[in-house]
Amino acid sequence: MMKKTRQFLISPATPLYERCFVVTSLLATIVLSLVFIWDICIGESFLKLSALGVTIVILWLTIGLCLRFKKVELGGIILSVGVVFFVLPIEFFTGGGVYGCTPIWFAYSFLFVSVNVKGKLRFVFVGFVAAMAIACYTIAYYHPKLLTTHTVGIAYLDSIASLIGVGVMLWLTMAFLMKIFIFERNRAEKQAEEINEMNRAQSHFFSSMSHEIRTPINTIIGLNEMILREDVSKEVAEDAANIQSAGRMLLSLVNDILDMSKIESGRMDLTPVAYHTGDMLSEIVNMLWKRAKDKGLELKVDVAPDLPGELKGDEVRIKQILINVLNNSIKYTREGTVSLSIQCEKRPGGVANVVYSIADTGIGIKQESMPYLFTAFKRVDEEKNRHIEGTGLGLAIVKQLVDQMGGRITVNSVYTKGTTFIIEIPQLIIDETALGEYKPQSHGDVLNRQAYHASFTAPEAHILVVDDNVSNLMVVEKLLRETKVQIDTARSGREALEKMIQTEYPVIFMDHLMPEMDGIECLHELRVQMGGLCKESKVVALTANAGSEMRALYEKEGFDGYLLKPVSGDQLEKELYRQLPRELVIVDENQGEIAEESVAWMHMRKKKVPVMITTESVADLPADEARDLNIGILPHQVITDEGKFDDGEEIEARGLIAYMQDPNAKAVTAAPDVETHENFFADMLTQANNIVHISISSRVAHSGCIAAREAARSFENVNVVDSRHLSSGQGLLAIEANRMANAGCSVEEIIKAMAVVRTRIHSSFIVDDMDYLARAGQIPKRVSGLAKAFMIHPEIVMKRGKMGLGRFYIGSRESVWKKYIRTCLRQIKNKADRRILFVTFVGITTKEQEWIKNRIEKHVKFDRIIFQKASPAIAVNSGPGTFGLLFMDKE
Ligand code: ADP
Repeated sequence: MMKKTRQFLISPATPLYERCFVVTSLLATIVLSLVFIWDICIGESFLKLSALGVTIVILWLTIGLCLRFKKVELGGIILSVGVVFFVLPIEFFTGGGVYGCTPIWFAYSFLFVSVNVKGKLRFVFVGFVAAMAIACYTIAYYHPKLLTTHTVGIAYLDSIASLIGVGVMLWLTMAFLMKIFIFERNRAEKQAEEINEMNRAQSHFFSSMSHEIRTPINTIIGLNEMILREDVSKEVAEDAANIQSAGRMLLSLVNDILDMSKIESGRMDLTPVAYHTGDMLSEIVNMLWKRAKDKGLELKVDVAPDLPGELKGDEVRIKQILINVLNNSIKYTREGTVSLSIQCEKRPGGVANVVYSIADTGIGIKQESMPYLFTAFKRVDEEKNRHIEGTGLGLAIVKQLVDQMGGRITVNSVYTKGTTFIIEIPQLIIDETALGEYKPQSHGDVLNRQAYHASFTAPEAHILVVDDNVSNLMVVEKLLRETKVQIDTARSGREALEKMIQTEYPVIFMDHLMPEMDGIECLHELRVQMGGLCKESKVVALTANAGSEMRALYEKEGFDGYLLKPVSGDQLEKELYRQLPRELVIVDENQGEIAEESVAWMHMRKKKVPVMITTESVADLPADEARDLNIGILPHQVITDEGKFDDGEEIEARGLIAYMQDPNAKAVTAAPDVETHENFFADMLTQANNIVHISISSRVAHSGCIAAREAARSFENVNVVDSRHLSSGQGLLAIEANRMANAGCSVEEIIKAMAVVRTRIHSSFIVDDMDYLARAGQIPKRVSGLAKAFMIHPEIVMKRGKMGLGRFYIGSRESVWKKYIRTCLRQIKNKADRRILFVTFVGITTKEQEWIKNRIEKHVKFDRIIFQKASPAIAVNSGPGTFGLLFMDKE
């Protein structure tokens, strides 16, 4: 029994509160039993003895039943209720009140309930104990007759016995809790050690697995490349090309799985190094342009000339991110263009936020697939993509890497039209000097069978390759054959050192993991070798140990370069070219051939802005103002019997009004549909990294807001703000948003501010002729007839996003206009933001405009009064002779 209880108490499977329950309730029962015996000895009343006896029996039963039926929580509550509401008051009144032992038990009860009741209920019970103590003391004070009194001697004896009992219980409870704490801490330390050990073993397993898989792939890919270079039959060449692609696929799969496992176990360490931005870009582009060209795609590269020449970041991982996303763009695009544009926003503290946008004109991604894009092993739209190779790991790794670098990746895509990934990575600036006009450098594509030429020859150079694997030695020898370099090989560090006594090798390719003496040891020895001829040689690590941490290790140990197996002929040649003394190298004239072709990449050369504001043509902004401010305008449409026209571009208000002179002529306006919005956003995103679209109020008829919102779901960088206005009221909001964007505010800041700014805008119009409203279906025809007869001119006002009727003005046109201007401006005189006022009109002559201006200036002086012709879409709804005053309140 004792053993079982002990086992229960120390088992990690037993929750802490169960252990406390058992310890405190058992202790309480034992001590109460002892007190019971003591009470018999000192001759306590029958009532008290029976109360105590029943309590002890109930205690035993509750503990047993609760443990048996695993209802410990309930047990804790039952015992606490029993103690607080029954045991304590009965004991108090039968045991002499304040001249007995109960006050000491009250004190212990605070500990008992707080240990045995969980959560918020614990506070309630502690409150109950306090309340019960106060109640007992108060009743006893006012009704002392209710107490069973003790003699002084008994009171003393009872009190001391309880004091010792409770003291022992407190001591035992604390001792037990301390023991559990120490026990659990030791166990946690042991477990942490075991987990570390497992991680180390897993780490070792993954790195050796990576190494072991890379070694044979190196042989397969390397020797296969030799076949591709030979003059073999077409069939053999095709087979070799397939082996090549399968080998590379296998390699990328191994890399992805290893990366994913590293990320999942939190062992993906970044190794920031200083790197040349131009060199890194050239490497990426050289790698991918051929793939794009083979698919008939155009690869455009556009690098902001102010990109710093040298940055600090994990170059290897940044390349991995860009290659992965660019590769996807090429993979998922059948025709058109893949473009990479790079921009840089300088931040305080010598940090550059580099923004890479990778856009394609490919198959696009469905909206419903967007949330799963970055989920590991998830390939979206599988039905369509089943012929395209992939594992669904690439983007998951990209996302994790970008997050780890403190960056951000977002996607904008229109299904069937194309996709843009925007990646931002903050990096330290090492060399502020701007990169300038970027021209990718190419050493050509040596994998192309027909086009292969060694990019240089060096018949006088003598190099050494050290590797314990014969196949690897053979691969390097063959891949470098065309360069005519003299190659010696060594199968161990020892053998290499022996050769270095006889021959001076300007360049040595050295494997890392070799039996007896590894590559690092060999490097250290050769640098101080007695009589050695290679103390100053360039030593390049040629290893199957992947990862930026390995690269950093080789750099630290003193290697001059690092090549990862499987290595291509191109990489080997480039590295050898880089390391060999210039006097030993003869550069082949053909080298320029492919470089020329790659320079043919188109340069887009237009700097993307961080945030661009867009709105609709119905926002009634002057066209040149919108152009100057770089506010993108999406035209609404006007549909007449003659056809469909783009608002403002293909149809113009005056022409439309003339057309509407015919009472039978019909014209309706329509907001652009979802697809038109999508195309518009995609187009605008070629000029900006983020878009804030100020849409016409969602509460007016023919609003484009819903379509805009629907379309924006495809774009992580497009945000739609409901202006709650139309016409130049909406335009004012766009101007204000644009001012904030130019001041460098973030998208979030602009959106937050717009929710306030839109409440400060006043949009109202005075309508001359209600016919148009009736024809547009806004009011019944009868009403317009009556209004005309009584010379009633209504004011139309935007209120909380809804278009409603405001005041009615009666009289001649001139008197109505006067009243409207006065009423509008009088009420806002001191509140108005005087920077700008729009007078947006339909069919009002220049002379009338002059008159309106004078009337306005009589009331309020604005810095700018813009007379803006309303867009046809507005004109068609309000008719000629309409104008409105649109302005903002001050902040
Ligand atoms: P995969 O190995 O399948 O390419 P990724 O993680 O790289 O895996 O991409 C996940 C999925 O996202 C792909 O299966 C593809 O459906 C979709 N995807 C990624 N990039 C693009 C793109 N540029 N255009 C269209 N779909 C893409």
